[in-house]
Amino acid sequence: MIDRKDIDALAMHREKMVQEQLINRGITSQRVIDAFRNVPRHLFIEDGLIYQAYSDYPLPIAEGQTISQPYIVALMTQNLDLKPDDIMLEIGTGSGYQTAILAELCAKVYSVERFGSIASKARKLLDGLGYHNVMIVIGDGTRGYTPKAPYDGIIVTAAAPSVPETLLTQLKDGGRLLIPVGSEHTQELLKIVRQGESLKQESLGGCRFVKLIGEYGWER
Ligand code: SAH
Repeated sequence: MIDRKDIDALAMHREKMVQEQLINRGITSQRVIDAFRNVPRHLFIEDGLIYQAYSDYPLPIAEGQTISQPYIVALMTQNLDLKPDDIMLEIGTGSGYQTAILAELCAKVYSVERFGSIASKARKLLDGLGYHNVMIVIGDGTRGYTPKAPYDGIIVTAAAPSVPETLLTQLKDGGRLLIPVGSEHTQELLKIVRQGESLKQESLGGCRFVKLIGEYGWER
């Protein structure tokens, strides 16, 4: 069990993470910064690793997957430019940490995860924290989630070999897609914005994610 002293220490680690890893590295959106202050990241981490929850690197979760480094979560979130009424699609629920950050910033998050075990753990955690604007769907997110399309923003938190066309068609006019694209070992973080029939693409730099596995991703 974590006692009061530990909870205070974790809160201090969280504030230090916000200052050193986010603000000092150029995260400027106050809404994004506040979301990171609100979400208790240590609850999304495996028990034995809880004191590394606010460290500057990714950590393992179940099924050989990872929870992303805080800075990468912040960079992707800031670039989604979320407004309170926005509807989001997330591919790769994982621990549910990125999902909680999104739930702080927009009206509704649909999050698709391929492992049922991972999805149900995230579901319980998010319910317990009161994020009632999240719906977790078990399935292949490379197909997007057509029942609620189109979306103001789509975030893919696993590495794709190329941009799935299915996701581009589920973006609203003005919608933003954030996705790591490249090889199994290293990728470029792409931001794609739909402007009518055209798509504007920019790279936000290098990154490394676990594989996006599915019909329009990696085979396995
Ligand atoms: N954003 C997560 C990190 C997730 S790791 C967090 O903050 O913890 C990537 C996740 O994507 C893994 O849970 C993996 O199972 C999932 N994934 C991989 N391919 C997928 C697919 N095609 N559809 C849905 N989820 C997928």
